[in-house]
Amino acid sequence: MTYPRLNIELEPIRQNMTKILSTCRQWGIEPVAVTKVYRAHPDIVQMLLELGYTKLGDSRVDNLKRLEGMDVEKLLIRIPMPSEVAQLVEYATSSLISSIYTAKLIDREARNQKKKFKLTLMYDIGDLREGIYGVENLCKIAEEINALKNVELCGIGTNMSCMNGILPSKENIMEFLEAKKSVENCFGTKLDIASAGNTDVFAFLLKNGMIEGISELRIGEGMIMGTDGGEGVIEMLNQDAVTLEAQIVEIYDKPSKPKGVAGVNPFGEKIEQGADKGMRRRAIVALGRQDIHFMHLIACDKNIVPIGQSSDHTVLDVSDCDKKYRDGDILKFRVKYGAILSGFTSDYVYKNIIR
Ligand SMILES: *Cc1c(COP(=O)(O)O)cnc(C)c1O
Repeated sequence: MTYPRLNIELEPIRQNMTKILSTCRQWGIEPVAVTKVYRAHPDIVQMLLELGYTKLGDSRVDNLKRLEGMDVEKLLIRIPMPSEVAQLVEYATSSLISSIYTAKLIDREARNQKKKFKLTLMYDIGDLREGIYGVENLCKIAEEINALKNVELCGIGTNMSCMNGILPSKENIMEFLEAKKSVENCFGTKLDIASAGNTDVFAFLLKNGMIEGISELRIGEGMIMGTDGGEGVIEMLNQDAVTLEAQIVEIYDKPSKPKGVAGVNPFGEKIEQGADKGMRRRAIVALGRQDIHFMHLIACDKNIVPIGQSSDHTVLDVSDCDKKYRDGDILKFRVKYGAILSGFTSDYVYKNIIR
């Protein structure tokens, strides 16, 4: 057995994908399945194709490359780097965009590659990450993009709950849809796409009802975790499809208080020394920041208390556990979003696909 390992159960993920697809289609929404958190892992992508998803999205062109040859729309959901425009046009069919500079580069590249490339212009409704701020600016840039010959402005998009955790509300979704209408009024034509956001917006619509006019959602977290941004559980979906296991490499009784003068650790952190609890049983698991940051993990044994983590070691207080852990034992953890993201990204974490 290889550790640390992510255990990835496909069946609950497939069920989540099925429910999300059918719910969205009932609303008249075509979801973009966002694959970035699992780096477009082929076994997971395969399920999306089998279920009939027509749009896949990823934030990395490198991940979109893994979808080569698949007959689906491939959307870059990060605004592109000017330096990756050639690869973008080669491996994607569409992209989110906010910069007219980059849009012109894409237009030129699309002409070179004899392709028509689709763009969704991002509008910032207040989360203050990417997007055009203000409706007037939005209309102006939309018109500039619309004048380009080799790209097609197919809609307006927005983002919530990412940078500042601004939550979806009836007000900000309506504001977004109004902004899209303003652009349509400038042009005198309708735009196909109103891409209203991520899993959080899906969860919001489940609770509060569909808002007419949304035509697309970009959904990642909900499919694999069954939660939305605040780790709020989405009742109809499965949670815990992905877990992590790591192996104990040392277990000893040691004092709870370090000995000597404390400076900062290699990560520039000054560690707060708690009360002296005397001798404690401390387990080290072979899992470090080069794998997954421990703040993204929750030990399944509720009596385990995390103490600290360096590049390659995680130290846990196991004194209060009923089970008497020993060297070589495997500890199991529930994973937060950040753990799935870095677990799939780290070469050192084994991906155990369970069918
Ligand atoms: C990651 C991302 C999404 C998907 O977000 P989830 O919370 O995983 O559903 C949607 N849109 C953009 C622009 C993203 O970066």
